[in-house]
Amino acid sequence: MVVGDVSTGTEVAVVGAGPGGYVAAIRAGQLGLDVTLVEKDAYGGTCLNYGCIPSKAMITATDVAHSAGNAEEMGVYADPEVDVGEMVAWKDEVVEQLTGGVEQLCKANGVNLIEGRAEFAGNDKLRVVHGGDGQGSETITYEHCIVATGSKPIEVPGFEFDGEHVLNSRQALAMDDYPESMVVVGAGYIGMEISTVLAKLGVDVTVVEMLDEALVGYEDDLARPVTQHAEELGIDFEFGLAADSWAESGDGIVVTAADEDGETTDFETDKVLVAVGRQPVTDTLNLDAVGLEPNEDGRIETDDQARTDVENVFAIGDVAPGPMLAHKASKEGEVAAEVIAGEPAALDYQAVPAAVFTDPEIATVGLTADAAEAQGFEPAVGKFPFSASGRALTTGEGEGFVRVVADEDSGFILGAQIVGPEASELIAELALAIELGATLEDVAATIHTHPTLAEAVKEASEHALGHAIHTLNR
Ligand SMILES: Cc1cc2nc3c(=O)[nH]c(=O)nc-3n(C[C@H](O)[C@H](O)[C@H](O)COP(=O)(O)OP(=O)(O)OC[C@H]3O[C@@H](n4cnc5c(N)ncnc54)[C@H](O)[C@@H]3O)c2cc1C
Repeated sequence: MVVGDVSTGTEVAVVGAGPGGYVAAIRAGQLGLDVTLVEKDAYGGTCLNYGCIPSKAMITATDVAHSAGNAEEMGVYADPEVDVGEMVAWKDEVVEQLTGGVEQLCKANGVNLIEGRAEFAGNDKLRVVHGGDGQGSETITYEHCIVATGSKPIEVPGFEFDGEHVLNSRQALAMDDYPESMVVVGAGYIGMEISTVLAKLGVDVTVVEMLDEALVGYEDDLARPVTQHAEELGIDFEFGLAADSWAESGDGIVVTAADEDGETTDFETDKVLVAVGRQPVTDTLNLDAVGLEPNEDGRIETDDQARTDVENVFAIGDVAPGPMLAHKASKEGEVAAEVIAGEPAALDYQAVPAAVFTDPEIATVGLTADAAEAQGFEPAVGKFPFSASGRALTTGEGEGFVRVVADEDSGFILGAQIVGPEASELIAELALAIELGATLEDVAATIHTHPTLAEAVKEASEHALGHAIHTLNR
């Protein structure tokens, strides 16, 4: 059946149903706005379908197997058998449960869902082309539009993703049969997380990175334990090499990488995963029609209310400036919806946590000591090692530390860095502390459950004050 072009109107049109767009749509619905959410692929976007959730499911599943097989110290002798097909099926079920939940929540909040690809067709109009042959298109007239089209993986020239030999992160996470060997190009957080999964599944992993260290942007004492542990898992790091070309060879491929002098090295492998970063998706939006153009990073510039240069158009998430993180996208979505509803909302990026789900995990929020100093603060720094934490030792993970950075004068907490068990969970307390304007005294005065990893946050704060109990003070 051919469906003709129909025309509808809405107060708020949201383009893209990732953690930016679907959250914006739900919040707008809660605020009583008439809202239409257009998605061309899958509810939940990159995060739920191809990113955060599938990667974390695979990280956990491979970690369960790895931990069970490496617990001799605790008197546990096991040789877990991993059925990768079943593991991947479980991961897919988790994804399905969550994406189904997103759809239901949208509907329950009165969000009108439309499947199709949207592009601007004028100052107050979107044209939505429905997927599939002869499915037609429709025009949506809006009062406000929120662009939440997210990002896609960057391709290295010569390494076009074919899903067979050259994979992106989405394709790597969808594999249900793992190769014997794999080259991973890029030692950023996505490359490092997936390399860890692969290594724990017994894949022979070589990470090729142009720079001379992994996880650039994280302080050395946070990244080092992760690289060291990755090496213990058998991951081979080849720093200072840029992926140059690849060719089929026998049953596998050869990846050629070059150093800065043009000296090349070949790596024989089964497949190559290219994880060198992501770029915003604006090319399909016909931004010209609304008078917008991306900045030099390809992003749509916004102000502290997520508003673009066009009064009634907002941009949120990976397509807008700032860190490409799901929770940052969601917060921007909430703020955009509230601003449209006339609430006095604004964005504050002081306390955006970030986590790397490697083994051990890394998590950060706010300022490092160096950044605090550069901003004119005199930082008071407290650090507590997990080797002194009762709970960390009872989980067999005594590596790493919690570091808290505060302003020496006022005691206000400015930032924190954690490497170690459950860093991604522990950082939330310190994000809250920054958000509330809490001081070292406030965190130190809070009674923390014993024995828990969170006690390390309290002890690090006490350390900055010079009176930690379970470590020597400065
Ligand atoms: C492997 C991997 C792991 C990750 N892990 C984490 C993590 O642990 N924590 C974290 O915070 N972040 C993580 N991220 C990043 C996170 O996924 C993104 O920051 C987040 O998804 C951005 O949300 P968004 O709503 O801006 O965009 P997206 O989630 O990319 O959603 C955009 C949506 O817009 C749709 N769309 C695009 N163009 C159109 C159009 N013209 N019309 C209609 N629909 C359109 C797309 O189909 C997509 O569904 C990870 C990413 C990857 C790839």
